[in-house]
Amino acid sequence: MGAPEAFTTTKSVDPQTPAAQSLPPKGVGQLGSGPSPADIGHFIGGEVYAGTSGRQQAIYNPATGAVARQVALANEAEVNAAVASAQAAFPAWAETPPLRRARILNNFLALLNQHKDTLAAMITAEHGKVFTDAQGEVTRGIEIVEFACGAPQLLKTDFTDQVGTGIDNWVLRQPLGVVAGITPFNFPCMVPMWMFPMALATGNTFILKPSERDPSPSLFMAELLRQAGLPNGVFNVVQGDKLAVDTLLAHPDVKAVSFVGSTPIAQHIYETGARHGKRVQALGGAKNHMVVMPDADVDQSVDALIGAAYGSAGERCMAISVAVLVGDVADTIVAKVAERAKALKIKNGMELDAEMGPIVTAQAKERIEGYIAQGVAEGAKLVVDGRGCQVPGHEGGFFTGGTLFDQVTPEMRIYKEEIFGPVLVCVRVPDFAAALKLVNEHEFGNGVACFTSDGNVAREFSRRVQVGMVGINVPIPVPMAWHGFGGWKRSLFGDMHAYGEEGVRFYTKQKSIMQRWPASIGKGAEFVMPTAK
Ligand code: NAD
Repeated sequence: MGAPEAFTTTKSVDPQTPAAQSLPPKGVGQLGSGPSPADIGHFIGGEVYAGTSGRQQAIYNPATGAVARQVALANEAEVNAAVASAQAAFPAWAETPPLRRARILNNFLALLNQHKDTLAAMITAEHGKVFTDAQGEVTRGIEIVEFACGAPQLLKTDFTDQVGTGIDNWVLRQPLGVVAGITPFNFPCMVPMWMFPMALATGNTFILKPSERDPSPSLFMAELLRQAGLPNGVFNVVQGDKLAVDTLLAHPDVKAVSFVGSTPIAQHIYETGARHGKRVQALGGAKNHMVVMPDADVDQSVDALIGAAYGSAGERCMAISVAVLVGDVADTIVAKVAERAKALKIKNGMELDAEMGPIVTAQAKERIEGYIAQGVAEGAKLVVDGRGCQVPGHEGGFFTGGTLFDQVTPEMRIYKEEIFGPVLVCVRVPDFAAALKLVNEHEFGNGVACFTSDGNVAREFSRRVQVGMVGINVPIPVPMAWHGFGGWKRSLFGDMHAYGEEGVRFYTKQKSIMQRWPASIGKGAEFVMPTAK
């Protein structure tokens, strides 16, 4: 199955990236007479296509600030072509026995393991996070593929013998059709893998609309799926922005949409998708608190705060951005975190001893530094100021240093809003009840942590906190592949979490079948509600 002739093939990844060297050479088709093609195009029907929309966007190397390549931005015709390709591939893929689908995912798994570092380097090159962190991202994605390889078991359903005399009842879980995934910049490999392995394992065909800020891993994963033996059209990638997203949301052949990104967009996706009759799960933004109780181990708490607030430059939906310091721990914790924040090794993420890399774009750095100015204006105490961070040899890079605020209060914007950068705000509270109330009154409810050595405090905290993912002495409690990921409140729109058994339910519809055979059917019409006989 191919894509429309209007599209022209192009190279799939920038030849400068290490990924290019590990890919087999791809055919480069005749280029049309339109605008010069972007370096990163779409993947439709098993082929990479240059965009024809004439719209493209620059991709930066955030460590240097230089434009690295251009990504195509799809128009409606290109999105429609991807949907048509996925729609055409759906019947055969849905009919493919789950065991055979799982074997293809197993091949993909082997290729992912083989090319793990290539993917990690691609992530660092466009996102900026440090290479070892990018390796961790790829590993967390791989775990979902491992889980999805259990498709035959995951799709096994319930059967009840003899619900009435001679009658049995069972359920099937059948795929939805074409489903789409719209993903954020901060995990260009892992978040798509929260979605498509589950969707493919359960018999759907998939369209990925990755972030336009770091799109290269999407095409590399598409190529690995092709090499794994996935039939053409089962997995497609359209690069793009709001136009591509809104086209997917309105398309009648797209049956479900999984989204991960910021809260305003998540809400737009949820409302628009639902209005078009689609199943939607839309995971949004966060402001994750870490409560430090007076009985917590101080050094462990400081280590946790440093890693969880400044790892990946705070550009994680599970980053800790608020430290809730209970009772008399505050002075000690603030002093120790300040010392460590000032000493962070901030470098190009490809340098292996780097602890923190650059911010993804100049605009994001500007937004973060705007929040730092806002915090000062609001009267918070700026203990460590990351503005003006310079990395020798990388003067054009988008670096902001680790930043720490103390004496932050709940009405301040730096407390209420998601900054999504290396900025940790400390709120001092007198006791456990005040800490819990603070967390529960925040509009977001993605992740939360409580550091304590008291089992009863831990138990009460985990039962009473209004947040979807809770860590007890674990700062970033991202659930494993078989447990499912999702926040509460304005961190998730929809009712099913990503991956795990929730993922299986999201990507399938339940059908109940009841059967009996002529020998057990009585005579005559029945006018009363059937009950077990
Ligand atoms: P974003 O909301 O700007 O973009 C996410 C996706 O939506 C991208 O593919 C983008 O192209 C698309 N998009 C952007 N604006 C749009 C619009 N107006 N209409 C339609 N589509 C649009 O998010 P981001 O900056 O890429 O990622 C960071 C955000 O994602 C943070 O808020 C972070 O908390 C959140 N996030 C949440 C989770 C989670 O699991 N809850 C995980 C990762 C990231």
